[in-house]
Amino acid sequence: MNNNIINDIYKITANLKDPLTNEIWYKNTNKFNILIKDGSVNITINIDLNDREKYEQLELELKNSISKIDNVSSVNIVLTSEKNIKEKNFKINSKKIIAIASGKGGVGKSTFAVNLAVALSKIGNKVGILDADIYGPSVPRMMGISDKPKTNDTNKLIPLENYGIKCMSIGFLIDVDTPAIWRGPMVMKALEQMFNGVDWGELDFLIIDLPPGTGDAQLSLAQNSKLSGSIIISTPQDVALIDVRKGINMFRKVDVPILGIVENMSYFICKNCNEKHEIFSSGGVRKESEKNNIPFLGELPIDINLRKLSDEGKPSCVSDINSEISKIYISIAKNI
Ligand code: ADP
Repeated sequence: MNNNIINDIYKITANLKDPLTNEIWYKNTNKFNILIKDGSVNITINIDLNDREKYEQLELELKNSISKIDNVSSVNIVLTSEKNIKEKNFKINSKKIIAIASGKGGVGKSTFAVNLAVALSKIGNKVGILDADIYGPSVPRMMGISDKPKTNDTNKLIPLENYGIKCMSIGFLIDVDTPAIWRGPMVMKALEQMFNGVDWGELDFLIIDLPPGTGDAQLSLAQNSKLSGSIIISTPQDVALIDVRKGINMFRKVDVPILGIVENMSYFICKNCNEKHEIFSSGGVRKESEKNNIPFLGELPIDINLRKLSDEGKPSCVSDINSEISKIYISIAKNI
């Protein structure tokens, strides 16, 4: 379906003249970039932002024509500047921007990001959460959000909101099953669009759920988005710790302060015997942070209820506020 839509868009751009140069665009991917997800078409047009007014008519015509294509449910067009991307200009009006990172997947990074966002909001902050996990965007589900974002009258995407937190996910913009070869440039555009193309308003905290690992997307975000700091999540096993070291090195290289490391799934308290079981061993993350001179932010238990609530879109810090794990999230939020 996406290929048919793209072909139809190219038929439109085959007749489209650039207002400045009078050249035909056709498939000029330096000029524009197309991302399609579930019938929602997202286009970025690269211009010098000083010429913005000259492109507004064309933007309108393009939007009208594309919305008539079969199977297109919405069209979002953002005028942007490649130059700005290179000049570290992912703009957002947030007092603090904190990236949540992990060396590998499945360690509870997104769960932490969501609960930290809720905890920060509970203590009186205006909070947004940006899900940049290209390998498995799960924040909307964990936040109980199933709608898709709409655009406002300046063509910016309006973040979806639940529990008082604004939420935007890369999963709304790109198809996570797209072959890797197409991904690189698409991901970069989508990341930029999640900053400059979203009406975030004013925030105290923006929490970014990074993809696991230390690839191009993580680097690009760290370099472009003026991060105030990062938090690394790990489980206690040695194999996880090897990847934590790579994460520490990446943030140090790009001069992003590491606010601390959190050990997730440190222990399990058995309801029957009330005993503490250290299923994946424990204490490794604390030692690693001491070795690297990075604050250790705390140990989070394995909590079966948290997993259930997460799957139902109810973060523990909303639905199970008196649990031990929620209290730890709140205390980490207060520390930050
Ligand atoms: P990541 O973002 O690192 O890939 P997720 O946050 O998606 O990991 O978590 C993976 C799974 O582990 C999810 O099902 C989540 O509910 C569960 N999980 C995360 N942290 C805990 C915890 N402390 N106790 C129990 N389950 C957890």
